[in-house]
Amino acid sequence: MRSVGMLDLKAEYALFRDQARAVVDQVLDDARFIGGPQVGQLEERVASLCERKFAVAVSSGTDALLCAMMCLGVEPGDEVITTPFTFFATVGTIHRLGARPVFVDVEPDTFNIDPAKIEAAVTDRTKLILPVHLFGQPAEMDAIKEIAAGHERVRVLADAAQAIGATYRARPACAAGCATTLSFYPTKNLGGFGEGGMILTDDEALAHRCRMARNHGETSRYHHEFVGGNFRLDTIKAAILLIKLDHLARFLEARQRNAARYDELLADVPVTTPVVRPHSVSAWHQYSILCDDRDALMAHLKERGVGSGIYYPVPLHLQACFAYLHHKAGDFPVSENTARRILSLPVHPMLTDDDVQYVAASIADFYKG
Ligand SMILES: *Cc1c(COP(=O)(O)O)cnc(C)c1O
Repeated sequence: MRSVGMLDLKAEYALFRDQARAVVDQVLDDARFIGGPQVGQLEERVASLCERKFAVAVSSGTDALLCAMMCLGVEPGDEVITTPFTFFATVGTIHRLGARPVFVDVEPDTFNIDPAKIEAAVTDRTKLILPVHLFGQPAEMDAIKEIAAGHERVRVLADAAQAIGATYRARPACAAGCATTLSFYPTKNLGGFGEGGMILTDDEALAHRCRMARNHGETSRYHHEFVGGNFRLDTIKAAILLIKLDHLARFLEARQRNAARYDELLADVPVTTPVVRPHSVSAWHQYSILCDDRDALMAHLKERGVGSGIYYPVPLHLQACFAYLHHKAGDFPVSENTARRILSLPVHPMLTDDDVQYVAASIADFYKG
């Protein structure tokens, strides 16, 4: 039986095994395990790719959010407006800084924060709006920035952990907003060999502060202006990411090709295929359909050797750790309904066209009964 997984990291590795081994050897020989030149090179290349002036490499996408929000001055008593339909880290980091996550429901077709519902959530305690470019599709940044501009203190930080390579109004999605965070977790579109992340911004003072924060708030050796953390990215990981960057454009094209094929092949199948706004290009971190009998479809696919994933089964306002926010089922109905019906299909760059056809045919068979 054919087997089509959500990822094929071994096949990807085979494409750059020799290069990867050579650069790892180089870093081992140099023995500059922290702060080697590859870290700065990676920052320059990603900043340029994302059309940002500054990039600060950090230890993970979670730490990128934490570090960026620390440096944007998010404090106890502040509110951060975000989506309940995202990976946990978006909201976990708000909580860890003592600020209050304020949820706004998502759009039913893109699953991104609904700009029409943001204004009503702004208060005089709002510090940030934190949209997520979910599954690789940019959130509606123009509308979000306009809302922020109407309030003196409010800035926009975007969580682009899933969206490197996405385009918003003919520019990199990562260029929009006061700052953007990335993740290099191995399963992400630019995945490293271990944890990693980055903060992107055009604000020099913010970039400078993030650089200090990543190193315990140090200004010069053993002199600390404020309390930061150890948010550094290892040299070895930066060196690997530099190699993987060379493959990113090709991998993105493969994801786009796979997504377009699914759109075609699933057109007459009773599932809802993803909607991408005409002014956006998705990075297709996930290809997520909405479907009835989701769990049965998932089991059927598994029997056929097809992997699939549920991102995300429980919206964050219903998580036990956020019970203190006193939300209940029904508070964010679009997110809750989406969580019940969503299913992500394999869309990774190593899929063949036969794989994609097999997945689509397996879904069609399920609904034919
Ligand atoms: C992966 C992810 C993160 C966290 O990144 P890590 O590198 O795993 O810490 C944050 N937000 C979103 C939307 C993500 O998908």
